Amino acid sequence: MAPKQNEKCIRNTTIKVRLYPTPEQAVLFDKTFGCCRYLWNQMLADEERFYHETDMHFIPTPAKYKAGAPFLKEVDSGALAAVHQNLRKAFQHFFDNPSSYRHPTYKKKKHCKNSFTSYCQYYPSGKGASIYLTQDGIRLPKAGIVKANLYRKPLHWWTLKSATVSKTPSGKYFCSLMFEYAEKPVALVPPTPETTLGLNYSLSHFYIDSNGRAADAPHWMQQSQDKLIRMQQRLTRMQRGSHNYDQQLLKIQRLHEHIANQRKDFVHKESRRIANAWNAVCIKDTNLVEMAQQIKLGNIMDAGYGKFRICLQYKLERLGKPYIVVEKYFPSAKTCHRCGSVNEALSPNAKRWICPACGAVHDRGKNAAINLRDKGLEQYYGT
Ligand SMILES: [Zn+2]
Repeated sequence: MAPKQNEKCIRNTTIKVRLYPTPEQAVLFDKTFGCCRYLWNQMLADEERFYHETDMHFIPTPAKYKAGAPFLKEVDSGALAAVHQNLRKAFQHFFDNPSSYRHPTYKKKKHCKNSFTSYCQYYPSGKGASIYLTQDGIRLPKAGIVKANLYRKPLHWWTLKSATVSKTPSGKYFCSLMFEYAEKPVALVPPTPETTLGLNYSLSHFYIDSNGRAADAPHWMQQSQDKLIRMQQRLTRMQRGSHNYDQQLLKIQRLHEHIANQRKDFVHKESRRIANAWNAVCIKDTNLVEMAQQIKLGNIMDAGYGKFRICLQYKLERLGKPYIVVEKYFPSAKTCHRCGSVNEALSPNAKRWICPACGAVHDRGKNAAINLRDKGLEQYYGT
């Protein structure tokens, strides 16, 4: 099979920036989070009632609720329209693929993300848009210009599609700006074993590649993790509800966010390094349920592996390089990459092993990564 040439396509990209709202703007955002949650729950209840009575699916539009709940008029109507769209999408996902998606559920104030999305409206004859960027801020409907740290500017041919405002548990506001742009086709370089990297997921090393390189979590991440454990221990000795307790809890929430940022930073840098250096990457399809169980074991990098794969895929694809997924039942660990025999007796804990068929000495992770690389290339070329 000849490698496919990339077709010209529409891409999305997001820039997430910190917002610095005035107290009035912060109140408006908090109100909008509440209104969106309220509207979601109302629409979901009406959908369920309608379905119960008529056996048909229907979600009323936000306008229907404004008379009974005048506070909805105080917030961005675009955000309310987005709730309607999101609920429709959630039902669509569930109807199309009930084994992977849950039926939409009610949002509880305590256990739901504080966020709302507003789609950008473009007014006819060049009269501007409902959302746009200024020198050091973002214009949002109802809120006006909100101060923002625009550390990265969009390219001039990008079109702003939407803005999602969110608030972290420690009270910081962020805005994710989504842009759309058309991309020119990229010339595809056919991958060879020398220019292809196999990646094997590793619980203790994040991953081990087909050259035997392990990507350990950086030292500074381990330091944050140790600090978090100490802070949590201190919290357990404090009186619940006291001033000190609340202060400590806030510190812990901030550190959690800091660790999440460190992880994101590491994942982006690692995936960028690989995407630039290699012409193709082969990786095993992972069982997300098994992954979730492993995450509970508490390695700090585990939560980042899913994100790492997503980053790696889009970074490679934007460079016109293949990201090859090998099916999850392929016995990458038990197969000898030298002679191809499968060692069924291999213990799951063995780090090193000797092939009973050919006598080759294997490092478990490296051998598995080499097998993934070879299997992936075989798949890619259809041999
Ligand atoms: Zn062998």
